[in-house]
Amino acid sequence: MSFVQGLDRYFAVLSNDQKARYLIAKEKSLLDRKIEIADDILQSCHFCERHCGVNRQAKEVGYCGINAISRYASEFLHHGEEPELVPSHTIFFVGCTFACVYCQNWDIANRFVTGTPLLPERMAETITMRNYQGAKNVNFVGGEPTPHLHSILRIMNACNVNTPMVWNSNMYCSSDTMDLLRGVIDVYLADFRYGNDGCAEKYSNVKDYWSITTRNFMSAWQDAEVILRHLVLPNHLECCTKPIVNWVAYHMPNIRFNLMFQYTPHYKAHQYPELNRSLRYDERTRALEIVRDAGLKNLV
Ligand code: SF4
Repeated sequence: MSFVQGLDRYFAVLSNDQKARYLIAKEKSLLDRKIEIADDILQSCHFCERHCGVNRQAKEVGYCGINAISRYASEFLHHGEEPELVPSHTIFFVGCTFACVYCQNWDIANRFVTGTPLLPERMAETITMRNYQGAKNVNFVGGEPTPHLHSILRIMNACNVNTPMVWNSNMYCSSDTMDLLRGVIDVYLADFRYGNDGCAEKYSNVKDYWSITTRNFMSAWQDAEVILRHLVLPNHLECCTKPIVNWVAYHMPNIRFNLMFQYTPHYKAHQYPELNRSLRYDERTRALEIVRDAGLKNLV
Protein backbone atom coordinates (compact mmCIF):
# COMPACT_ATOMS: atom_id res chain seq x y z
CA MET A 1 0.00 0.00 0.00
CA SER A 2 1.40 3.42 -0.95
CA PHE A 3 1.70 6.27 1.51
CA VAL A 4 -1.18 8.13 -0.22
CA GLN A 5 -3.43 5.03 -0.11
CA GLY A 6 -2.63 4.66 3.56
CA LEU A 7 -3.47 8.29 4.15
CA ASP A 8 -6.81 7.88 2.29
CA ARG A 9 -7.72 4.85 4.38
CA TYR A 10 -6.75 6.70 7.58
CA PHE A 11 -8.79 9.74 6.50
CA ALA A 12 -11.88 7.59 5.78
CA VAL A 13 -12.20 6.52 9.40
CA LEU A 14 -11.95 10.05 10.84
CA SER A 15 -15.02 11.90 12.10
CA ASN A 16 -15.98 15.14 10.33
CA ASP A 17 -14.59 17.04 13.27
CA GLN A 18 -11.24 15.27 13.07
CA LYS A 19 -11.12 15.79 9.30
CA ALA A 20 -11.72 19.51 9.74
CA ARG A 21 -8.93 19.71 12.31
CA TYR A 22 -6.63 17.75 10.03
CA LEU A 23 -7.29 20.07 7.10
CA ILE A 24 -6.79 23.16 9.25
CA ALA A 25 -3.56 21.67 10.58
CA LYS A 26 -2.31 21.14 7.03
CA GLU A 27 -2.75 24.84 6.31
CA LYS A 28 -0.74 26.09 9.23
CA SER A 29 1.57 28.96 8.50
CA LEU A 30 4.98 29.58 9.99
CA LEU A 31 3.39 32.11 12.35
CA ASP A 32 0.81 29.51 13.46
CA ARG A 33 3.66 27.17 14.29
CA LYS A 34 5.55 29.90 16.15
CA ILE A 35 2.42 30.61 18.21
CA GLU A 36 2.15 26.93 19.14
CA ILE A 37 5.77 26.87 20.27
CA ALA A 38 5.30 30.10 22.25
CA ASP A 39 2.25 28.57 23.96
CA ASP A 40 4.33 25.53 24.90
CA ILE A 41 7.04 27.75 26.37
CA LEU A 42 4.38 29.64 28.32
CA GLN A 43 3.64 26.49 30.30
CA SER A 44 7.17 26.44 31.68
CA CYS A 45 8.12 29.99 30.96
CA HIS A 46 11.54 30.80 29.61
CA PHE A 47 10.74 33.70 27.31
CA CYS A 48 13.58 35.51 29.03
CA GLU A 49 16.82 34.35 30.57
CA ARG A 50 15.36 34.32 34.07
CA HIS A 51 13.92 30.91 33.13
CA CYS A 52 11.27 31.07 35.87
CA GLY A 53 9.70 27.79 34.66
CA VAL A 54 6.21 28.79 35.85
CA ASN A 55 3.05 27.71 34.08
CA ARG A 56 1.62 31.06 33.06
CA GLN A 57 -1.34 29.37 31.35
CA ALA A 58 -2.30 28.09 34.81
CA LYS A 59 -2.24 31.72 36.08
CA GLU A 60 1.17 31.30 37.70
CA VAL A 61 3.46 34.30 37.48
CA GLY A 62 7.22 34.57 37.41
CA TYR A 63 9.54 37.50 38.01
CA CYS A 64 7.79 39.72 35.46
CA GLY A 65 4.46 39.29 37.21
CA ILE A 66 2.54 38.52 34.00
CA ASN A 67 0.33 35.47 33.55
CA ALA A 68 -0.92 34.31 30.16
CA ILE A 69 -3.13 37.37 29.70
CA SER A 70 -1.13 40.21 28.22
CA ARG A 71 -1.98 43.73 29.27
CA TYR A 72 -0.95 47.08 27.93
CA ALA A 73 -0.82 50.56 29.43
CA SER A 74 -1.28 52.61 26.26
CA GLU A 75 -0.85 52.72 22.48
CA PHE A 76 -0.41 55.81 20.34
CA LEU A 77 1.54 57.40 17.51
CA HIS A 78 4.91 58.16 19.10
CA HIS A 79 6.95 61.03 17.64
CA GLY A 80 9.86 60.77 20.07
CA GLU A 81 11.62 57.69 18.70
CA GLU A 82 14.56 57.69 16.29
CA PRO A 83 13.90 59.91 13.21
CA GLU A 84 13.59 57.07 10.70
CA LEU A 85 10.89 55.38 12.80
CA VAL A 86 8.46 58.21 13.51
CA PRO A 87 5.57 58.39 13.70
CA SER A 88 5.77 54.98 15.33
CA HIS A 89 2.69 53.11 16.52
CA THR A 90 3.97 52.27 19.98
CA ILE A 91 2.27 49.70 22.20
CA PHE A 92 3.34 49.92 25.85
CA PHE A 93 2.98 46.51 27.51
CA VAL A 94 3.01 46.31 31.29
CA GLY A 95 5.58 44.36 33.31
CA CYS A 96 9.29 43.88 32.82
CA THR A 97 11.99 41.24 33.09
CA PHE A 98 14.36 43.82 34.61
CA ALA A 99 14.10 45.81 37.82
CA CYS A 100 16.12 48.94 37.00
CA VAL A 101 16.48 51.13 40.08
CA TYR A 102 16.31 54.29 37.93
CA CYS A 103 13.45 53.13 35.65
CA GLN A 104 11.69 56.02 33.93
CA ASN A 105 8.70 53.79 33.12
CA TRP A 106 8.43 52.32 36.61
CA ASP A 107 4.73 53.12 36.68
CA ILE A 108 4.05 50.52 33.98
CA ALA A 109 7.08 48.25 34.41
CA ASN A 110 6.65 47.10 37.99
CA ARG A 111 4.91 43.81 38.58
CA PHE A 112 1.89 45.23 40.40
CA VAL A 113 0.40 47.26 37.57
CA THR A 114 -2.69 45.98 35.83
CA GLY A 115 -3.24 47.64 32.44
CA THR A 116 -5.86 46.79 29.83
CA PRO A 117 -6.24 43.11 28.87
CA LEU A 118 -5.11 42.70 25.30
CA LEU A 119 -7.18 41.00 22.61
CA PRO A 120 -4.80 40.32 19.69
CA GLU A 121 -7.49 40.63 17.00
CA ARG A 122 -8.66 43.95 18.43
CA MET A 123 -5.08 45.26 18.59
CA ALA A 124 -4.56 44.17 14.97
CA GLU A 125 -7.55 46.36 14.03
CA THR A 126 -5.99 49.24 15.97
CA ILE A 127 -2.76 48.72 14.04
CA THR A 128 -4.72 49.06 10.79
CA MET A 129 -6.26 52.31 12.04
CA ARG A 130 -2.87 53.71 13.13
CA ASN A 131 -1.45 52.69 9.77
CA TYR A 132 -4.10 54.82 8.03
CA GLN A 133 -3.16 57.65 10.40
CA GLY A 134 0.42 57.53 9.15
CA ALA A 135 2.26 55.06 11.39
CA LYS A 136 5.48 53.88 9.76
CA ASN A 137 5.69 50.75 11.89
CA VAL A 138 4.42 48.91 14.96
CA ASN A 139 6.67 49.26 17.99
CA PHE A 140 6.34 46.65 20.76
CA VAL A 141 7.73 48.06 24.01
CA GLY A 142 7.01 48.24 27.73
CA GLY A 143 8.02 47.64 30.35
CA GLU A 144 9.35 44.91 28.17
CA PRO A 145 7.73 43.04 25.25
CA THR A 146 9.43 39.70 25.96
CA PRO A 147 6.84 38.29 28.44
CA HIS A 148 4.16 39.07 25.84
CA LEU A 149 5.71 37.17 22.95
CA HIS A 150 2.77 34.75 22.62
CA SER A 151 0.35 37.69 22.28
CA ILE A 152 2.59 39.67 19.95
CA LEU A 153 2.85 36.71 17.56
CA ARG A 154 -0.96 36.48 17.60
CA ILE A 155 -1.22 40.20 16.84
CA MET A 156 1.09 39.73 13.87
CA ASN A 157 -0.96 36.78 12.67
CA ALA A 158 -4.16 38.82 12.80
CA CYS A 159 -2.63 41.90 11.13
CA ASN A 160 -3.89 42.75 7.68
CA VAL A 161 -1.58 45.66 6.94
CA ASN A 162 1.94 45.30 5.67
CA THR A 163 3.98 47.27 8.19
CA PRO A 164 7.42 46.82 9.74
CA MET A 165 7.52 45.20 13.19
CA VAL A 166 9.84 46.78 15.78
CA TRP A 167 11.08 44.86 18.84
CA ASN A 168 11.92 47.52 21.44
CA SER A 169 13.66 45.51 24.13
CA ASN A 170 16.27 45.13 26.85
CA MET A 171 17.58 42.10 24.87
CA TYR A 172 17.49 39.74 27.84
CA CYS A 173 15.39 37.26 25.81
CA SER A 174 16.09 33.53 25.85
CA SER A 175 17.56 31.81 22.78
CA ASP A 176 14.14 30.25 22.10
CA THR A 177 12.57 33.70 22.05
CA MET A 178 15.21 34.99 19.65
CA ASP A 179 14.49 31.97 17.41
CA LEU A 180 10.78 32.77 17.43
CA LEU A 181 11.48 36.41 16.57
CA ARG A 182 13.65 35.42 13.61
CA GLY A 183 11.91 36.25 10.35
CA VAL A 184 9.03 38.20 11.92
CA ILE A 185 10.86 41.21 13.37
CA ASP A 186 12.10 43.86 10.95
CA VAL A 187 13.86 46.21 13.36
CA TYR A 188 15.41 45.62 16.77
CA LEU A 189 15.33 48.87 18.72
CA ALA A 190 17.56 47.46 21.38
CA ASP A 191 19.05 48.68 24.64
CA PHE A 192 22.66 47.91 25.50
CA ARG A 193 22.95 49.33 28.98
CA TYR A 194 25.83 47.75 30.93
CA GLY A 195 29.42 46.94 30.09
CA ASN A 196 29.78 44.26 32.76
CA ASP A 197 27.71 41.83 34.82
CA GLY A 198 28.33 43.58 38.15
CA CYS A 199 26.63 46.85 37.18
CA ALA A 200 23.74 44.93 35.57
CA GLU A 201 23.15 42.91 38.71
CA LYS A 202 23.43 45.91 41.01
CA TYR A 203 21.09 48.22 39.12
CA SER A 204 18.73 45.90 37.18
CA ASN A 205 18.92 42.65 39.19
CA VAL A 206 19.95 40.47 36.24
CA LYS A 207 22.66 37.83 35.99
CA ASP A 208 25.04 37.05 33.12
CA TYR A 209 24.02 40.25 31.37
CA TRP A 210 27.04 40.62 29.12
CA SER A 211 27.08 37.14 27.58
CA ILE A 212 23.30 37.03 27.09
CA THR A 213 23.00 40.51 25.61
CA THR A 214 25.94 40.19 23.24
CA ARG A 215 24.64 36.77 22.08
CA ASN A 216 21.24 38.30 21.32
CA PHE A 217 22.70 41.33 19.57
CA MET A 218 24.67 39.02 17.29
CA SER A 219 21.51 37.04 16.54
CA ALA A 220 19.53 40.21 15.80
CA TRP A 221 22.33 41.63 13.69
CA GLN A 222 22.33 38.56 11.44
CA ASP A 223 18.59 38.67 10.96
CA ALA A 224 17.23 42.23 10.79
CA GLU A 225 17.91 45.94 11.08
CA VAL A 226 19.31 46.94 14.47
CA ILE A 227 19.23 50.36 16.10
CA LEU A 228 21.26 50.17 19.30
CA ARG A 229 20.48 52.49 22.18
CA HIS A 230 22.98 53.14 24.91
CA LEU A 231 21.74 55.26 27.80
CA VAL A 232 24.86 56.82 29.33
CA LEU A 233 24.75 56.53 33.12
CA PRO A 234 26.53 59.01 35.42
CA ASN A 235 29.81 57.61 36.77
CA HIS A 236 29.61 54.66 34.35
CA LEU A 237 31.64 55.88 31.39
CA GLU A 238 34.65 53.61 31.82
CA CYS A 239 32.91 50.51 33.21
CA CYS A 240 29.86 50.53 30.92
CA THR A 241 29.99 52.98 27.98
CA LYS A 242 33.55 52.15 26.94
CA PRO A 243 33.28 48.31 26.84
CA ILE A 244 29.97 48.53 24.99
CA VAL A 245 31.26 50.98 22.38
CA ASN A 246 34.42 48.92 21.83
CA TRP A 247 32.46 45.66 21.50
CA VAL A 248 30.01 47.21 19.07
CA ALA A 249 32.79 48.83 17.01
CA TYR A 250 34.45 45.44 16.64
CA HIS A 251 31.40 43.24 15.99
CA MET A 252 28.94 45.52 14.19
CA PRO A 253 30.80 48.65 13.08
CA ASN A 254 28.08 49.96 10.76
CA ILE A 255 25.25 49.75 13.28
CA ARG A 256 22.94 52.70 13.92
CA PHE A 257 24.20 53.74 17.36
CA ASN A 258 22.10 56.00 19.54
CA LEU A 259 24.17 57.49 22.35
CA MET A 260 21.53 58.74 24.77
CA PHE A 261 22.22 61.56 27.22
CA GLN A 262 18.78 61.96 28.78
CA TYR A 263 19.38 59.98 31.96
CA THR A 264 17.31 61.36 34.86
CA PRO A 265 17.25 59.78 38.31
CA HIS A 266 13.77 58.26 38.56
CA TYR A 267 12.20 55.68 40.85
CA LYS A 268 14.75 54.41 43.44
CA ALA A 269 17.81 56.20 42.03
CA HIS A 270 17.95 58.42 45.12
CA GLN A 271 19.13 55.33 47.05
CA TYR A 272 22.24 55.16 44.83
CA PRO A 273 24.30 58.38 45.25
CA GLU A 274 26.39 57.63 42.16
CA LEU A 275 23.21 57.60 40.02
CA ASN A 276 21.31 60.34 41.77
CA ARG A 277 21.95 63.14 39.27
CA SER A 278 21.84 63.92 35.56
CA LEU A 279 24.93 63.66 33.37
CA ARG A 280 27.55 66.35 33.64
CA TYR A 281 28.86 68.16 30.57
CA ASP A 282 32.28 66.52 30.91
CA GLU A 283 30.62 63.07 30.94
CA ARG A 284 28.85 63.79 27.67
CA THR A 285 32.12 64.98 26.18
CA ARG A 286 33.89 61.84 27.40
CA ALA A 287 31.17 59.56 25.96
CA LEU A 288 31.51 61.21 22.55
CA GLU A 289 35.28 60.88 22.80
CA ILE A 290 34.95 57.12 23.51
CA VAL A 291 32.72 56.72 20.47
CA ARG A 292 35.06 58.74 18.25
CA ASP A 293 38.14 56.82 19.43
CA ALA A 294 36.43 53.51 18.65
CA GLY A 295 35.64 54.68 15.11
CA LEU A 296 31.87 54.37 15.37
CA LYS A 297 30.37 56.83 12.91
CA ASN A 298 26.77 55.93 12.32
CA LEU A 299 25.35 57.89 15.25
CA VAL A 300 21.63 58.58 15.41
S1 SF4 B 1 9.03 36.19 30.82
FE1 SF4 B 1 8.48 36.47 33.00
S2 SF4 B 1 7.84 34.44 33.73
FE2 SF4 B 1 8.88 34.16 31.77
S3 SF4 B 1 11.00 33.66 32.32
FE3 SF4 B 1 10.91 35.89 31.99
S4 SF4 B 1 10.47 36.82 34.01
FE4 SF4 B 1 10.02 34.61 34.13
